Amino acid sequence: MKGNPNDKGFETRAIHAGQPPEQGTGAVTVPIYQTSTFAQHAVGETYGGYEYARTGNPTRTALEACIASLEGGKHGFAFASGMAATTTLCYLFQPGDHVILGDDVYGGTYRLFARVLSRYGITFDLVDLTQPEKTEAAFRPQTKLVWLETPTNPLLKSIDIAQVADLAHAHSARLAVDNTFASPYLQRPLLLGADFVVHSATKYLGGHSDVVHGLVVLNDDALAERLAFHQNAVGAVPGPFDCFLVLRGIKTLGVRMRQHGENARRVADFLAEHPAVEQVFYPGLPGNAYHAIARRNFASGGSVASETDPHSRETALDRAGFGGMVSFLAKGGEAAARQIVSSTQIFTLAESLGGVESLIEHPGAMTHASLAGSPIEVPASLVRLSVGIENADDLLADLAQALE
Ligand SMILES: *Cc1c(COP(=O)(O)O)cnc(C)c1O
Repeated sequence: MKGNPNDKGFETRAIHAGQPPEQGTGAVTVPIYQTSTFAQHAVGETYGGYEYARTGNPTRTALEACIASLEGGKHGFAFASGMAATTTLCYLFQPGDHVILGDDVYGGTYRLFARVLSRYGITFDLVDLTQPEKTEAAFRPQTKLVWLETPTNPLLKSIDIAQVADLAHAHSARLAVDNTFASPYLQRPLLLGADFVVHSATKYLGGHSDVVHGLVVLNDDALAERLAFHQNAVGAVPGPFDCFLVLRGIKTLGVRMRQHGENARRVADFLAEHPAVEQVFYPGLPGNAYHAIARRNFASGGSVASETDPHSRETALDRAGFGGMVSFLAKGGEAAARQIVSSTQIFTLAESLGGVESLIEHPGAMTHASLAGSPIEVPASLVRLSVGIENADDLLADLAQALE
């Protein structure tokens, strides 16, 4: 396209931001610059600012510009995985610093704090961030960071991002939001006051279960300079092909998220009526305890950005949906839950989420097994679905036969 894509709507930026036609050939798609180093005209005189591909690569630059645009931030950084993104961000902190960690965060994030960063003198407390009084009480003079995830995994609770951002700033701490489950199409934490957005791009951004990748976005120039230093110094960077796959996935983020949301809503409605199901967790259900907070957070999403009139905003929110993750408690306990996840035919029994194909899992024995006995253990009768974008009638029929 001609002109500045950053003036345009979310879906246009997803396809064009950071991705002008290539200078030399006019290639419409950003090429995979599969090179480790870049020639220099003379010592220190580069062709286009690139020297060595750990420090920077044009395919990665395009992705970093694109995700910054979509999250409404200034600086984007790409990493070899979501955990590499989290780890590198945590290198900005020092021994003695204290972190407030949501008590329902991704198991790998908890493990990083509990078993790695704690050995380097970074302390943390697990806090129920859905409770403002508990959050407020958790701050100490050493608290430098609050880390939250919303909607949470696997119970799909929603945490009020703007409220926690205000609390963090009142205590001179920063707020990092893991936005993996919502994606910037539904929720943009920087616009709600967060200081960092973190993604496992392995999930909805990549969208096709074919790449492991991580991203960070932030506004602050000085922090961005420090993060760029650590990205290069620590070296947990993605290869150009992985960056290409994420760029390609992001182009269809809007249409995918809408379909994930539509299918997930039908699945949640179906499960809510089913006699073999004890309780359904889905932020889009009007009866969900966190529905109002999810709506507040999702009003920051790219899907509703161009709606100014309050009524059309609400309509746009409903059209965009509430994401593709649904979980539920099986009547009949753990045995029933294990039976259900082994009985589906379209839903594949697998960890991970956010791809076009539907997945089913038993968090207690799979994604959250390493948390057994920890403060963030999950119910044994819980089943988690990543609802894909297959035909919704087929998905409902598959769940119906598995629940029988
Ligand atoms: C998967 C995931 C991560 C970790 O990302 P990887 O790409 O697997 O390293 C972090 N947060 C959430 C919410 C995730 O789902």
